[in-house]
Amino acid sequence: RAKREGRNSHTLYHPDIDSQPDYQLVLRSEIFDAIQEGQFLLHYQPQMSCRTQQILGVEALARWRHPKRGLLAPQDFIQIAEDSGHIVALGEWVLRTACNQLREWVRLGLNPGSVAVNVSATQLSRESFTDSVHQALEDSGLRPDLLELELTESIMFSDASVTLDKLNALKKLGVRLSIDDFGTGYSSLSYLKKLPIDRLKIDKSFISGLPDDQHDSAIVRTIIAMARNLNLEVVAEGVETLPQLNFLSRHFCDQAQGYYFSPPIAAEGIYALLLEKQQKRAGGKDDQPTLL
Ligand code: C2E
Ligand code: MG
Ligand code: MG
Ligand code: MG
Repeated sequence: RAKREGRNSHTLYHPDIDSQPDYQLVLRSEIFDAIQEGQFLLHYQPQMSCRTQQILGVEALARWRHPKRGLLAPQDFIQIAEDSGHIVALGEWVLRTACNQLREWVRLGLNPGSVAVNVSATQLSRESFTDSVHQALEDSGLRPDLLELELTESIMFSDASVTLDKLNALKKLGVRLSIDDFGTGYSSLSYLKKLPIDRLKIDKSFISGLPDDQHDSAIVRTIIAMARNLNLEVVAEGVETLPQLNFLSRHFCDQAQGYYFSPPIAAEGIYALLLEKQQKRAGGKDDQPTLL
């Protein structure tokens, strides 16, 4: 029994499901219906200009409002969705919901900038992926350059020429492509010059040690310099403090995302922020930074 608890730490905190075969298996059996039944939602996290501290876009992050277990974070369900193949249906829902939401904010004259959507390697590998992006853009009426797809370096593990063709096809639709968690994955950098990538997102594990940790600051400076030399935009993830932001600004990082500005929040929260920004603009105070 002790062994069993050790293997699945969830049982320690959820004694009510102790008798069930496995928390993961339960979620796995529920996920498909949960998508159909509308139990998923998106939170959005602002992406800020380091220079002006204005919102330039948002990243959409999936949440599962589980009827029994409350609000679940991606670490509870993304791997399960991957393993069961339901990531394709979930990803499709995320894509459509994010495009529709952004289009709605644009329609309201709110100037939200772009929306970034996380795409898993499994999703990208599907033949139909480019078509589903095209459909989501058509159906929502969203300007393609306002949609950004966040990919991880693991896409390079699959057939490189297939990946290149696929990314080129996506670029043809007019969307932007970024590499998420940059620095944590595949070590070859040669793909950066081959692939039609627009931006790099520096993984938060390198941001946490700024500005004091010498290794983190050397790595971050190097990634920013490399990105600039390759004509890529660069975004820092997981910015939690002012000294971190100051370091990034000093080294000409383009954008920052993190708890310092805002955690991921519900659509209503983003709406309120954008509205406030719009009212300031209407009041002729356009040069005021958006303080969150
Ligand atoms: P990610 O795409 O790298 O997203 C950033 C994660 O860092 C988010 O976690 C966000 O809440 C968190 N974060 C943001 N600012 C800070 C900060 O200042 N400090 C710290 N410590 N963390 C911060 P979240 O929402 O739990 O998502 C985790 C991961 O799950 C995402 O990492 C992404 O890889 C994946 N994910 C989320 N939504 C989706 C989705 O719709 N589809 C796919 N395929 N993956 C998703
Ligand atoms: Mg991401
Ligand atoms: Mg990331
Ligand atoms: Mg991550």
